Amino acid sequence: MPTIHHLNAGTLVVPGYPTVVCHCLAVHDAGRTVLIDSGIGLLDGLDPDGRLGRGLVEAAGFRFNARDTAYQRLVSLGIDPESVSDIVLTHADPDHAGGLADFPTARVHVSAEEHARVTAGHPRYAPRLFNHGPSWRTYAGAGVDWFGLPAARVDVPIPTAVLLVELPGHTAGHRGVAVESGGRWVLHAGDAYYLRAELTDAHHPVSAFAASRADDDDARVTSLGHLRRLAADHADAVSMFGYHDITELPRGCIDWE
Ligand SMILES: [Zn+2]
Repeated sequence: MPTIHHLNAGTLVVPGYPTVVCHCLAVHDAGRTVLIDSGIGLLDGLDPDGRLGRGLVEAAGFRFNARDTAYQRLVSLGIDPESVSDIVLTHADPDHAGGLADFPTARVHVSAEEHARVTAGHPRYAPRLFNHGPSWRTYAGAGVDWFGLPAARVDVPIPTAVLLVELPGHTAGHRGVAVESGGRWVLHAGDAYYLRAELTDAHHPVSAFAASRADDDDARVTSLGHLRRLAADHADAVSMFGYHDITELPRGCIDWE
């Protein structure tokens, strides 16, 4: 059975909105570590203008603190960052992909659709975050039915089952990442919602912002509906969290309050 660590790997502050975090997972099993999303990276803090661009840094409210990186969080937990062999991305937005370069030899698993849009130079991505040449593994199609959602099994070198679950909309290739642990599942829902309240409030004010950031808003709303159903019907089998809601980080993950 894996040990699943919840990490805060970044903070974003936009006036008028709650402060949000970058909630990654480190799945440690059989001496290896698989990261789910990579947060804001150490290199981003050293060269934010070069890697992200001043406009993006200000618009998204990036805050840089070496402590709030996946790399440094692993060190603090006593996990050797060299044990990170694989990283699974929900999608490739800059606040999710900045940490990739801190683990330059790791394989990076992502949906084929997301990868295609990154390599085609879609403007929502920050191309320099991929300059180190990640070793991509891409997934087209599904193959697994996961609580009624199409999913693909991720080829990670640990005994733990890891699935890319189709939750498109925020980006066209956006996925959730499901990790099996002790007969139950943890679902990292990525940016399929920003705030947990969206699961119960169909008219939450953050929805307008979410709509504005979506590649396909109809698909985003459909994906949100799937998560509402999962939360209502399968809470016994699935614990779910989103990437940005600070209230979903377990106690002790935030040390700057
Ligand atoms: Zn995000």
